[in-house]
Amino acid sequence: MNISMVDLKTQYLHIKQEVDREIAEVIDSTQFIGGAKVTAFRENLEQYLGVKHVIPCANGTDALQIAMMALGLQPGDEVIIPAFTYVATAEVIGLLGFTPVMTDVDPDTFNIRVDHIEAAITPRTKAIVPVHLFGQCADMEPIMALAKKHNLYVIEDNAQAIGGDYTAPSTGLKSKTGTIGHYGCTSFFPSKNLGCYGDGGALMTNDDELAKAARIIANHGQSKQYYHDKIGVNSRLDAIQAAVLLVKLKYLDTYCAARARVADAYDQAFAGISALKTPVRAPYSTHVFHQYTMQVTDGRRDALKTFLAEQEVPSMIYYPVPLYKQEAFKQYWNGTILPVTERLCETVISLPVHTEMTPEVLEKITGSVKAFFAGS
Ligand SMILES: *Cc1c(COP(=O)(O)O)cnc(C)c1O
Repeated sequence: MNISMVDLKTQYLHIKQEVDREIAEVIDSTQFIGGAKVTAFRENLEQYLGVKHVIPCANGTDALQIAMMALGLQPGDEVIIPAFTYVATAEVIGLLGFTPVMTDVDPDTFNIRVDHIEAAITPRTKAIVPVHLFGQCADMEPIMALAKKHNLYVIEDNAQAIGGDYTAPSTGLKSKTGTIGHYGCTSFFPSKNLGCYGDGGALMTNDDELAKAARIIANHGQSKQYYHDKIGVNSRLDAIQAAVLLVKLKYLDTYCAARARVADAYDQAFAGISALKTPVRAPYSTHVFHQYTMQVTDGRRDALKTFLAEQEVPSMIYYPVPLYKQEAFKQYWNGTILPVTERLCETVISLPVHTEMTPEVLEKITGSVKAFFAGS
């Protein structure tokens, strides 16, 4: 039994005919950049998300960078982010000469909290980047209200949560994750919930002006060919990736449901283990389980990881180090310890979750976790 964190091979075999045909059409047309597949995917994704504009680009990190450039932020401007996230969120902020301001996260959802954001706002604050970590939406309604009050932009990092639904607690209004802020950014990296067969990404927005601004930045700062209004970047989704995504978008809801079934099975299997805190489901968001991330509360997280590796069950630590303690980001750190972030870095462990989990593999994984705790 060969267990992996993500099984892209079996998934491909299930959609091979469709994917191969779509890719062959691109090669046959030799329309490798832009063209019908990119347009069709953009339109289908706009429809799926119920958003006015999708702007495809080369990867999720670029999407974040394009959003920040298009908003016209200036060097020294502060951008509030969670300290417990993937590096890309903070990296583009530093790269553009802005200052990432890291805040602590919620101990149950692992997401940024409106009270911590509010406490971090200064006259230099220009934007907030909520990250919908592991597949669950941050509580966006109060964040949007706070942003409006302080005249701040909100950029959702939706790289891990595409396909999820957020329900605004006060109105009951439902929105797809990534369509609530001024911009939403996502990644089509192969192992993401909607992944292509290389690199890809996109921005989402309901604002016509912001859509236009992002398109200009992503295309060398030009609004008209060979007329450059701004310093931009070259960031495109290529047609072969769009062709793959055209097929996979049709299955995104099925894929989300398959991941949720794995998560439910884990929840059930581990319910009696007091040293494990399984993922908390927020009432305002669906969970698309990009990761199934538990907390090991008896101090034996690393021992569990080693034990599982001996059983040939893979697991991952997302993320082992608070961003502010990373060498590259220490320059932004004032020495304040964020206790929830610190604790999560020491206690979290992610188990395999993907669309192709078999009962046998699931049994092996849950059996191994239970065996570890049974010995204690
Ligand atoms: C994957 C990811 C990104 C970056 O996406 P790439 O396509 O790899 O550039 C950004 N933010 C988060 C939270 C991610 O998980």
